[in-house]
Amino acid sequence: MALLAVERLRVEFPTRRGLLIAVDDVSFSIAPGEVLGVVGESGAGKSLTGAAIIGLIDRPGRIGAGQVLLDGRRIDNLPPEAMRRVRGREIGAVFQDPLTSLNPLYTIGRQLIETITTHLDMSQAEARRRALDLLAEVGIAAPQRRIDHYPHQFSGGMRQRVVIALALAAKPKLIIADEPTTALDVSIQAQIIALLKRLCRDHGTAVMLITHDMGVIAETADRVAVMYAGRIVEIGPVGDVIHRPQHPYTQGLMGSIPSIVDERDDLAQIDGAMPRLTAIPAGCPFHPRCAYAFDRCRAERPDLMRAGTSLAACWLHASPARIA
Ligand code: SF4
Repeated sequence: MALLAVERLRVEFPTRRGLLIAVDDVSFSIAPGEVLGVVGESGAGKSLTGAAIIGLIDRPGRIGAGQVLLDGRRIDNLPPEAMRRVRGREIGAVFQDPLTSLNPLYTIGRQLIETITTHLDMSQAEARRRALDLLAEVGIAAPQRRIDHYPHQFSGGMRQRVVIALALAAKPKLIIADEPTTALDVSIQAQIIALLKRLCRDHGTAVMLITHDMGVIAETADRVAVMYAGRIVEIGPVGDVIHRPQHPYTQGLMGSIPSIVDERDDLAQIDGAMPRLTAIPAGCPFHPRCAYAFDRCRAERPDLMRAGTSLAACWLHASPARIA
């Protein structure tokens, strides 16, 4: 059974001009211990999908349809208190800015110990020992001394290490990491990604890694979902999506990564920009930018369909109308 199953999820925002649909009919699953990368431009709906899973959509946004199951149990309709318990105990979160997860007024030790004792059956002394172990594990030198320091006494990279320790503190089965390295120096980014990957492998924790950086996905993920205008346009094994992208948007996305273009000489950047939520075109939302668009693309919206080892939402892969 999938650890996480997201089924036909829709996230919507009521506005004076009507309903804006920011995440539209999104379905995917994550197996225990699996790393799923979710990639897309800003505004594609990837962060909102992550926020919907952990019950953190800012009002007036809401889940308009679909469901989220963790270990087969529905979690999208839980009361706030029960959802808070799921967050932390069963799903850990790592956000772009470490200061969103850390309280500046408390020492990191207090925050770790509080998380541990809230979710696990441990005494204060046991929790402190676990906190020290976690700090050592995430690469904080001299944890005995550092545990009593406040967040501002750490550098950005070190703070993100503390957040990862905090996310893992209650032994969750899944971590949702949303742009975990975007706010950090480039030199630190690779270290944090390597750390997250190693820890999750060692602990058997699954990860939903949300990023606009395909390079990060290439190094970390088992599978990748590519989002465009609120929908998943392609999902498949990471190597296949990178080297044999099936959706024209993914092909363009890969074309913008120099290390991948080097291996493939036939790709070009895509002209134009992703549509605003208020102006998503009929049919395939990508059709105004797609070099392969044909009549059906302008009239009918494609669902995900089999395309090699991946699934792609593109009429080029519909059996009777197959062109490519
Ligand atoms: Fe292009 Fe049509 Fe495929 Fe959309 S469905 S990506 S417009 S070929």
